Amino acid sequence: MKILKVDRTASGGIASGRAFVLEEQDLSPDLFAIAPEQAETEVQRYTAAVDAVSADLAPLAEKEEIFAAHLELVQDEALRMGVCEKIETGNVNAEKALHDTAEEYAAVFEMMEDEYMRERAADLKDIRNRLMRKLKNLPETDLSGIREKVILVAKDLAPSDTAKLDLNFVQGFITEGGGVTSHVAIMAKNLGLPALVGVKGVLEAADSGDFIILDADEKTVYVNPESEIAEEYVKKQEEQAKRKEELLKLRDLKAVTTDGHEVEICANVGNLDDIRNALKFSIDGVGLFRSEFLYMENDHFPTEEEQFEVYKAAAELLGGRELTIRTLDIGGDKGLSYFEFPKEENPFLGYRAIRIGLDRTEILKTQLKALLRAGCYGRIRIMYPMIISVEELRSANSLLEECKNELRTEGKAFAEKPEVGIMIETPAAVMMAEELGAEADFFSIGTNDLTQYFLAVDRGNEKISAMYNPFHPGVLRAIARTIEAGHAAGIKVGMCGEFAGNPDAVPILLGLGLDEFSMSAGSTLEVKQKIRQAEYQKSLALAERILKTKTVPEVEQRIQEWHQDN
Ligand code: PEP
Ligand code: MG
Repeated sequence: MKILKVDRTASGGIASGRAFVLEEQDLSPDLFAIAPEQAETEVQRYTAAVDAVSADLAPLAEKEEIFAAHLELVQDEALRMGVCEKIETGNVNAEKALHDTAEEYAAVFEMMEDEYMRERAADLKDIRNRLMRKLKNLPETDLSGIREKVILVAKDLAPSDTAKLDLNFVQGFITEGGGVTSHVAIMAKNLGLPALVGVKGVLEAADSGDFIILDADEKTVYVNPESEIAEEYVKKQEEQAKRKEELLKLRDLKAVTTDGHEVEICANVGNLDDIRNALKFSIDGVGLFRSEFLYMENDHFPTEEEQFEVYKAAAELLGGRELTIRTLDIGGDKGLSYFEFPKEENPFLGYRAIRIGLDRTEILKTQLKALLRAGCYGRIRIMYPMIISVEELRSANSLLEECKNELRTEGKAFAEKPEVGIMIETPAAVMMAEELGAEADFFSIGTNDLTQYFLAVDRGNEKISAMYNPFHPGVLRAIARTIEAGHAAGIKVGMCGEFAGNPDAVPILLGLGLDEFSMSAGSTLEVKQKIRQAEYQKSLALAERILKTKTVPEVEQRIQEWHQDN
């Protein structure tokens, strides 16, 4: 038996099966010197390969954004010119010219500081490999032929590989390379497929046919486990499957307590695919669209038109459901390859979120105009991140009014009165909630940041991660205060931080009067179940008791008592 561990989960869950190790093909360029008169033939071979790959990608591009991006990349004029120039001036064949040009491009991506952009190098490699297989007459690595329950093991998986997986057979995957924010990891989460990435040594540890248990929740891989462990996992998986089936029955039911108190369950999303997936869980709407993904996927600030198309498509997908789009929230740990941030001692306390938008108003205005226009196609709510004062809200809103005037002059249709709300994720916003509530249409509590700012505990610092606890009575009081102030102002209060998707937090949040719970789609049914099992009156009593607690253990004890009583 071999056991491998990593420290971060790409996509949670437990799976087991025989290892299917993706064999590597030799995609290196061989015999590459050519005579000058062969150059034309090589250019033609390359053009034919581009055409063939484009034809393969076209149907996939209609279904998934990532393949549309790949299709664009394979047809990229600069890439084509780079390859042709190398053939013509370097006297090398198409394979070698492609190889060298792609290396140069990938080197540029990999040198970027932003983790997300670095991982885009994988997309380029995906394209290069597809082209190379065509040039070398090698078959596509065919995952669609798998016909038994397997765990896929690979050095790296391309997003295009994950799209071909038949989920009746592929139970999960493990890769040696990749980061948790890679497209592959994002797609695994969307597919609900357990996955671990960056598992060093897995290719050496596992051969095709070995029995594998992948416990992504515990960040552990067992290769040929001892029978005791295997038996234990058979039970765990049976329980997991039963649980999933039970939960699916709740899909079309309302999130209502036993005594009739109803709340909304919404999803947090980063792109259109996430929305499509979330709709499978019958969500009430989108409580947080992290628009920064749209900016991070681009190599330039997306134009008004580019943004409009995405927001409009999102609104149309959601029909009449609410769609809360947060304006650009970069800075802190989120960068953009094409935007230079100042070097800062404390980036989380620095130039980020709405501060950038109010400083570089042209960036925020471009986005606001796109949002206003897309508002004609659905129920778009605009949300500003990291507000600390009434002045900031007013400044942002006055930019919004400027945008409306400009759109009027330009003769473009837009939503006159979209709901405009703010994230409550700073202590100052909590303390000013009454005043902010008087001028905002809704609140959404961002507990990820609120916890770090309230407790002065960096959310990304491993060393003090045990102190990062939203069950701290101080944080709970901040949440209570926010909900109360929002309700006094007559506005809806939601939560889109991770806390909203934590089943243990449900009774407290219910009792504090939270109107909307927004979380990753995969958690929605479990939270709904907790709500449907709860009695609102008892939650109210619990919340009251919790607000009097002095310590985290006391909070935990009150929750325990509530569970026993419910
Ligand atoms: C939050 O801070 O709770 C939040 C939802 O925003 P993000 O995690 O994107 O900072
Ligand atoms: Mg935040």
